[in-house]
Amino acid sequence: MKFETKIKLAAAAIILVMSTVAALPMIVNGQVTTALAELRSAAKIERLQMTLLEMLLNAETAQRGFVVTGDERFLEPYHAAVNSIPAIEQNLRQEMRSPEERTRNTAIEQGTAHKMRTVALTIELRREHGFDKAAAFIATGTGKAQMDRLRQLIGKEVEIDAQRRAALSDRLLSISNSAANASLVATITNILFLGAVLLAATRVLRQRDAAERKAQAAAGQARLTTERISQQNDLLFRSAELMHSLELAESTDESATVIASYLPRLLPQLSGSLYLYNNSRDILERKAGWGNATGEPDIIEALDCWALRRGSPHAYAGGEGGLACRHVTDPALDRLCLPLVTQGDVIGCLTVTGEGLAHDAEDRRAWIGQLAEQLGLALSNVRLRVSLRQQSIIDPLTQLYNRRYMDEVLKRELARAERNGAPVSVLVLDLDHFKRINDTYGHEAGDAILRKVALTLRENIRSCDVACRMGGEEMVVLLPDCDTGNAARRADALRLAIAAGDVLHDGQRIAATASIGVASYPAHGNTMRALVHAADLALYEAKHGGRNCVKVAQQEGSGDQA
Ligand code: GH3
Ligand code: MG
Ligand code: MG
Repeated sequence: MKFETKIKLAAAAIILVMSTVAALPMIVNGQVTTALAELRSAAKIERLQMTLLEMLLNAETAQRGFVVTGDERFLEPYHAAVNSIPAIEQNLRQEMRSPEERTRNTAIEQGTAHKMRTVALTIELRREHGFDKAAAFIATGTGKAQMDRLRQLIGKEVEIDAQRRAALSDRLLSISNSAANASLVATITNILFLGAVLLAATRVLRQRDAAERKAQAAAGQARLTTERISQQNDLLFRSAELMHSLELAESTDESATVIASYLPRLLPQLSGSLYLYNNSRDILERKAGWGNATGEPDIIEALDCWALRRGSPHAYAGGEGGLACRHVTDPALDRLCLPLVTQGDVIGCLTVTGEGLAHDAEDRRAWIGQLAEQLGLALSNVRLRVSLRQQSIIDPLTQLYNRRYMDEVLKRELARAERNGAPVSVLVLDLDHFKRINDTYGHEAGDAILRKVALTLRENIRSCDVACRMGGEEMVVLLPDCDTGNAARRADALRLAIAAGDVLHDGQRIAATASIGVASYPAHGNTMRALVHAADLALYEAKHGGRNCVKVAQQEGSGDQA
């Protein structure tokens, strides 16, 4: 049976019992009223019968007094009885209406009538015939017998009345007991029903509470899951963005800057540093840092970090006396060190610090691990790309940029110069009598000279300048923000430095000189081709001018020189 049905049935039962209890006083009241009316009737009958007996006794006494004295005044009680008895009998007839009562009453009425007639006869005898006749009649005992009979009848009636009253009293008592018992039973029944309902309701409420709590917990869990998923999505989106940015990075340093700008959002509430091996792979340089990790060392060695030693992540719980890396600056902080590994090669290390990182943060640690993996891969890609790019733009013999790169840079610098209204100069440099050097000392000596000249160039130009090998023993130096005069002076300084440098080959010191042609934007041309051509012509002039000298391109209408 369903719980609701049970509750409804229990409520119906309670209402029924309550209604019965409410009706009980009315039922009891009706019964008590009837019993009391009967009691009153019994009392009245008894009183009337006693009065009747008294009247009869009075009449007899009056008759005796009159017989003895002949004095009419003695007859007063007799006359009173004669007058009163009919009314008493009338009342008794009204009260005694059941067949048995009526029969018994009729007997009493007949007895009364006989007695009263005997009394009247005795009185009559005294008046008419004197005392003796009357006394003789009394002596017959008729009157006494009649009176005894009446006494007996009324005595029996009194007895019946007493029994009836006792029975009525018992009935009243029984009604009262029944009412009390009924109300007790009803109250207990109601208490039981109410208790059962209360118990069931409590159980249902408890179940509902439990269900509600379960639902709330489930909702909370769902909310947490949603939040976590949204956070993870956000992190994934950001990490994808980071990886995309890293794909566009042109150098390891630039990629480190990119990583440093993303890490605070990818690893919020945490601090850390990114260490990468230097080119010679003997130390690791701190390329990026975020959060509060400002005091971390700029350089560490592989042996300083357990993660780098093992090649796997190393977690350290601050303040618990675990195995701390040597590069740790604050031993009180939890720390996670992750090697950046790509194709089995460790390229660096990501160190992360933050509260609770060592405990109860498996999700976070897993996420940091994934991130380190991705970073390792991305950084290795950057390195590969940078190296490929270097290979494609660097001349392997001299380590100078090649012609392709020079074309690219010169085009860019000219566009920039045009935009900014700044000058750009080009030096075209050719080694003098290089064929002779080759022929005299051999090709290898020639190569050594080429490397030495290239080094001299690199060491004597600004970081913004670009030196490249155009082919053979011809080189070009691009000087941004440098006008013709400055370029000519710089060219001469380079020329002197080249002439001063020599290489040792087979125990011989070999030196070379160079001739340099100078041309500038905007003085000698607006295009790359025009500028190089003008510088070439100037170089040609320098060769013809005796070599080991600098010539500036001719301006229109003039033939100037350095
Ligand atoms: P000039 O002063 O007129 O420039 O005379 P030069 O001998 O330098 O001129 P030329 O162009 O006739 O000779 C260039 C020589 O440079 C020819 C070639 O053997 C040599 N050469 C070109 N590339 C290399 C190289 O990579 N290594 C070496 N060792 N020699 C090279
Ligand atoms: Mg040449
Ligand atoms: Mg030459």
